[in-house]
Amino acid sequence: MGEVGGGREGTDTLSPTAVTLMHLVNQRRILVRRLGQRPQRTLARSAILQGTGFLTGSWVRIGFRPAPANAGLIFQRIDTRKSVFLPARWDQVTGTDRRTTLGTDSGQVGLVEHVLAALAGLRIDNCLIELNGPEPPGFDGSAHPFVETLLEAGIVMQSASRGIWSVSEPITVSEGFATLTLHPAENDELRISYLLDYGHGSSIPSQKFTQTITPESFAREIAGCRTFVLDYEVEQLQRDGVGRHLTPADILVFGPRGPIDNRLRHANEPARHKVLDLIGDAALFGMDLRGHLVGCRSGHPLNVELIRTLARRMEERGSVLRLQAA
Ligand SMILES: [Zn+2]
Repeated sequence: MGEVGGGREGTDTLSPTAVTLMHLVNQRRILVRRLGQRPQRTLARSAILQGTGFLTGSWVRIGFRPAPANAGLIFQRIDTRKSVFLPARWDQVTGTDRRTTLGTDSGQVGLVEHVLAALAGLRIDNCLIELNGPEPPGFDGSAHPFVETLLEAGIVMQSASRGIWSVSEPITVSEGFATLTLHPAENDELRISYLLDYGHGSSIPSQKFTQTITPESFAREIAGCRTFVLDYEVEQLQRDGVGRHLTPADILVFGPRGPIDNRLRHANEPARHKVLDLIGDAALFGMDLRGHLVGCRSGHPLNVELIRTLARRMEERGSVLRLQAA
């Protein structure tokens, strides 16, 4: 997966070699910098939800427990012989094919992104997420059931602070025609834009969505947007054991004439869901990001690649510039 630096105006007049060099130069100049901080937050009390997992078709239970400051978001498998703890962090990611997976065989948790989106979207920084199986309940493929439960449990502030970070220049990761860029913050906001484009003839029309992310806008505009598949993908997924218990009425399946046995919650629900996934994957950074995240045809592999790149850049000596918010 190639990482490229932010392009400059006029680079299209340079030779391909010059463009590559300029990308490398830019890339080295990009700093991941601290803009400020905010109080950390956790749940006021525990909450439990149950449902069927998409991957295994098993009935699973997820428990959200308050956690101390600086704990972060941690999954705990309580069904294994020895309890397995999996921090929701970029360096724990072991899979990005169609979903984000954490941990190794003995204690894996798959399809973590919708749960992480619910927590990160509501700015819940510290939480122990108990699971009695290898995945959370899938519900309708959105984050809405998690968000409702978390809001019912309530959110409290903690005394420790959480860093807010951005970049000094745009940073882009790309693969084929897919790109994901974080543009520097102009203010204390995270804005996310997504362009979905499966090409001419796809049963999912090209669409876009852009939103400044706050707990309120996340709950209202994004949390309820469901995951989606194309009808010809369903057979293969079900052969692999995924979603065998589901019918098109349960989640969003696109056929040649649009959603099968289902209605869209927004005309651009798929693009909104891609933003939901991005918020979930960005939680793996472990700190707040500000700026403008712009995804074009991107998915879990690029989401995780960008977070990994930012985290590694931060860890490099001398590349961290601490600036207080103006
Ligand atoms: Zn998703």
